[in-house]
Amino acid sequence: MHVQDVELVISAVAQSQYPDDTLPEIALTGRSNVGKSSLINKLINRRKMARTSGTPGKTQTLNFYRLDEKLYFVDLPGYGYAKVSKKDREKFSHIIETYLQTRTKLKGVISLIDVRHEPSEDDKAMYNYLKYYGIPVLVVATKGDKVSRGKWNQRESQLKKALDLNQTDDFVIFSSQTGIGADKIWQWVGEQTEV
Ligand code: GDP
Repeated sequence: MHVQDVELVISAVAQSQYPDDTLPEIALTGRSNVGKSSLINKLINRRKMARTSGTPGKTQTLNFYRLDEKLYFVDLPGYGYAKVSKKDREKFSHIIETYLQTRTKLKGVISLIDVRHEPSEDDKAMYNYLKYYGIPVLVVATKGDKVSRGKWNQRESQLKKALDLNQTDDFVIFSSQTGIGADKIWQWVGEQTEV
């Protein structure tokens, strides 16, 4: 999909602030610094629409980006940032869980992990949580350019095993530097939202 028009409609903390139109939503989740803002910017062809982190863990809102009056990308707060206090972590998870459990317009979640690292306990918990609630999920391994192409299949198998994915579960290796994987992500988004 080639996105013409992007608008950050609202940075919401409470349910009452979620947009009340009928467009389908795709949410994006991952630990702080995984490359979520870079992925969003690459997919929508903007350099700085989503904030890239100088201050990881600071984004505590659900950012609703409306794309061409067709769908929303909902940027969820990054999790697992060590310097965030326990109280703030609980607040994040409350914000995220409320959204994931109540939002009927949510059509799928893009769950980001770093291609170079074993998934964290938080990554595994998020994946299991999404599966438990029956939410369609695409696992995207970010920063693909940091691993040589010859190692991709091996990394894919290792990451799928660590997350306990089936071989058929949706999985893409992506790089915001080269754009590789973007087409597959858009294809998946299209399948979930029918746009
Ligand atoms: P966020 O906290 O998940 O939103 O992560 P950011 O998008 O801000 O990225 C965190 C850091 O990783 C930044 O320094 C980015 O430049 C870098 N980064 C993100 N995506 C990629 C990628 O695909 N390749 C490489 N080499 N670096 C990336």
